[in-house]
Amino acid sequence: MSGPSALRVAVVYPDLLGTYGDGGNGLILSRRAQWRGYPVELVQALSDEALPTADLYCLGGGEDGPQVRAAEGLLAEPTLTRAVEHGAVVLAVCAGYQIVGRSFPDADGTRREGVGLLDADTVKGAPPRAVGEVLAEPTRLPGTSEPLPTLTGFENHAGRTRLGEGVTPLARLVLGRGNESPAGTEGAVAGRVVGTYLHGPVLARNPALADLLLAWALAVDGLAPLDDHWEEALRYERLHMARRSRRLVARLGRS
Ligand code: GLN
Repeated sequence: MSGPSALRVAVVYPDLLGTYGDGGNGLILSRRAQWRGYPVELVQALSDEALPTADLYCLGGGEDGPQVRAAEGLLAEPTLTRAVEHGAVVLAVCAGYQIVGRSFPDADGTRREGVGLLDADTVKGAPPRAVGEVLAEPTRLPGTSEPLPTLTGFENHAGRTRLGEGVTPLARLVLGRGNESPAGTEGAVAGRVVGTYLHGPVLARNPALADLLLAWALAVDGLAPLDDHWEEALRYERLHMARRSRRLVARLGRS
C-alpha cells in the first residue's frame, strides 16, 4: 500500500508495453511531484506480478503480441478497474490506449477484449500505418479553467480507434491521424482516464498535461510553477518542426 502521503505512480507492465519509451511518463510525473515537495513512490509493475494499487497508472505503447498479453493480464485481475472506481488517474498511450478501450485487434485482426475504461473500439486499419508528428489542440479538460497548450507528439499505429458516446476526444487534430472517428480527433478522456496516441514521451513534450494529471491525483486545484525552460525549448523545437512538416504536407498535397 502506498504510505498515507506518498503519491504512488505505477508504470504498468514495462516488460510488455515498453518499446516506445513511454515509461518516461511515469518518471516525469514522479519528478514533477517531487520537485514540488510531494513524496512519491514510482513502481515498475511487471506483468508477472500482481498489479499494485496506485494513485496514477501509466500504460505505454507496445507491439501487437505483447499488447494482447498485457490486456489479458489486466483483465485477469480487477485492480485497475477498482482503482479507477476509487479515483485513480490513468494515462494510456497507443497500445495502452487501445487496451483500456472496449476492444482492439490482434496481429491477425481478431477482436480482443479491452479493459473497458474508455468507451472506444479499435479496429485494424488499411495500410499504411499512421506514422508521424502530431499536433492537436486539447479540448477543455476537467480541472482546467482554460484549454491546455497545443499537444505535440508522434504516432505510430495500425489500429484505428472509434470513440463511443461515453468519452470526450482529448484534442482536435491539426496534424496527424489520431482517431478514426469522430474524424479529426485525437485521444479520449472519461473521468480521470486519458488515452492518447502521442508518444514522445507525451509528458516530456507536454508538461502542462503532466501537471493536470498530477493535480487530479493529488486532489489539488493547482501546482506551484516550475522552471520549465528546458521543456519549453523542447516544445518550441518540436512545434516548429511539426508546423513545418504540416506546411510541407499541404504543399505536397496540392502538387
Ligand atoms: N499495436 C498497436 C497498433 O499498431 C499499437 C502500436 C503502438 O503502441 N505504437 O495499432
